[in-house]
Amino acid sequence: MIIEVDKIKINIQYKKIKNINLKITGKGEVFVSSPENLSIKKILEFIEEKKKWILKHLIKIKNQPIYSQNYNDGDKILLWGKEYIFKKLLITNRKIKNKTIFIKDNFIILYCNKELDLESRKKLIENWYKKLLKEEIEKKLKFWQEKTGLYCSSWHIKKMKTRWGTCNTKDKRIWFNLYLVKKDKDCLNYIIVHELGHILIKGHGIKFKSYMNKNFPDWKRVKNKLNLINIENL
Ligand SMILES: [Zn+2]
Repeated sequence: MIIEVDKIKINIQYKKIKNINLKITGKGEVFVSSPENLSIKKILEFIEEKKKWILKHLIKIKNQPIYSQNYNDGDKILLWGKEYIFKKLLITNRKIKNKTIFIKDNFIILYCNKELDLESRKKLIENWYKKLLKEEIEKKLKFWQEKTGLYCSSWHIKKMKTRWGTCNTKDKRIWFNLYLVKKDKDCLNYIIVHELGHILIKGHGIKFKSYMNKNFPDWKRVKNKLNLINIENL
């Protein structure tokens, strides 16, 4: 059921849950999950109570910059939560080893010796991102596995549109979203601890929450930061 409160569209879903709760997606969709027996009056009271918070977050999402993934000269691109300007330098008079990517000050520079189409640029940059993320995961995963005592059997990186990570409890395999490389490093820490938790605990119930509180007390703040982002706009 969708209702409108002060021009805000709110999706109300009745579920088998104990407490009413609110979620805003990275695209700015507002969802209220309510226990099945709660009256619409009580739901509206809840929304009224949260209205200020909802508006604040919707404004934040609206003002969120959209990053192009066309990687044209002068485009803004992200690395570990920091914004850089993408530069493509064509060098024909000097020999360079194929194509190479460097960071210099506020620039991420791609050296190439011939014009590259969108597909080739994308491939080069995504491979570079993947290499950086892989190095970071290797370090951090080692640390968190030792700290939590939970070890995955293998892990991989891929592009995902709606999730930052997944873990298969049965075979203990973890997938990380490539775009984590565009977020602050505390987001990567959070996802690692979260996915390791699923080796032991399925779902996000009380057991899981107490695991997160113990190993990553700041998880709520970082989770909100991740949820406010529409992955496709990164
Ligand atoms: Zn999870």
